[in-house]
Amino acid sequence: MIAKDLGERKLVDKVFSVAKKAKDAMAELGEEKVVNATIGSLYDETGKLAVLDTAMKVYKELPPEEIAGYASAFTGTPEYKESVKISLFGRDYKEFLKGHYVEVLATPGGTGAISNSIKNYLGYGDTLLLPKWLWSPYILMAKEKNGDCDFYTLFNEENRFDLVDFKERVEKLAKKQDNVVIVINDPCQNPTGYRLTIEEWKEIRKILISASEEANIILILDVAYIDFDDRSFEERREYLETFKNLPEKVLTIFTFSLSKALTSYGMRVGAQIALSTSESVIKEFYDANSFSCRSTWSNISRGGMKMFSEIILDEEKSFRLEKEREFYRNLIKERADIFINEAKECGLDVLPYVSGFFLTIPTGKYTPKVEELLEKNHIYTVILNEGIRIAVCSVTKKKIKGLAKKIKAIYEEA
Ligand code: PLP
Repeated sequence: MIAKDLGERKLVDKVFSVAKKAKDAMAELGEEKVVNATIGSLYDETGKLAVLDTAMKVYKELPPEEIAGYASAFTGTPEYKESVKISLFGRDYKEFLKGHYVEVLATPGGTGAISNSIKNYLGYGDTLLLPKWLWSPYILMAKEKNGDCDFYTLFNEENRFDLVDFKERVEKLAKKQDNVVIVINDPCQNPTGYRLTIEEWKEIRKILISASEEANIILILDVAYIDFDDRSFEERREYLETFKNLPEKVLTIFTFSLSKALTSYGMRVGAQIALSTSESVIKEFYDANSFSCRSTWSNISRGGMKMFSEIILDEEKSFRLEKEREFYRNLIKERADIFINEAKECGLDVLPYVSGFFLTIPTGKYTPKVEELLEKNHIYTVILNEGIRIAVCSVTKKKIKGLAKKIKAIYEEA
């Protein structure tokens, strides 16, 4: 009975199904015996979900009406929008973005931000440009527009961002389509943990400017994990500089997620942040995207937005939040370092990790035997098309120790 034009629709979410297997194994064998490297949420060293005290304290102290009521606007409360701009660009964002137009729309998580952007900018049946190593829901979002996907290789032979391949694909689409919509997930790329260098961003900038002579270029910059990147404020600024002063035909939409920023996944709060040198492009962004907000989810959790603005608009609370995040950033780094060092020792390849929740072992074409052996050894990972993803955000240091060697042995046996 599903509408004919939608074709076949069936969601196969590998992450949740493997996670369930891991849970069942834990129930049967005990937690200690099982490595569940599938969970994409931050867990502490006791194996529990890491909940940021600053966030929870603020939320619990909100007046009930602030939680139960509708938000004051479909596109998000003014304080929330202000907080998102501060969080991404800094307290002096007005000065930093002088000469630019910026607009924020509240969305249900980063997912809502990305899907709203794709919905409004990808032409029906057009091709969306995605990285080869990716967070797979992007593909579903393209399918909602009856669209196809093309994939840039992400890494070249030197394990750096493959600019040549990226340029070719952008140019090819620019010749075919009015709008070229590109997703880049940076920093803390899921699933690899890669972070593009400033030099790579400068080259991408040139590619986008040049392609904008043929088509509109919409860069969806998925910054879901940006607060778990260990760059200094100055380095972050240098990175953000690369999205300034772009031609009118290049629009950058940052997609932000409170799931990661406040480790509040179930709160379902995020944002689209559009940046342009053109007032009319930003007005059009606001009009079209707020239309979709109203037609799809109406408005966003008032309490979730309030929790964020109460923290960000208060310097002392923001400082406490930052301290808490720093603790977890360091913890993730320690876990990743253990894995990467042990991988080096035993000769297991790891894609170039810099920061973030995940790292990836490139394994070539999928073989069921590997999955079988991993499970036999009570190791649960997300099996990608040509690799396996390890969620260093959720596996304790104790369980990470020795994991690289076990995985290497499994590959040798398979
Ligand atoms: N982008 C990436 C790369 C992700 O990994 C996720 C979630 O795992 C999201 C966006 C969206 O998360 P949420 O909708 O919970 O904000």
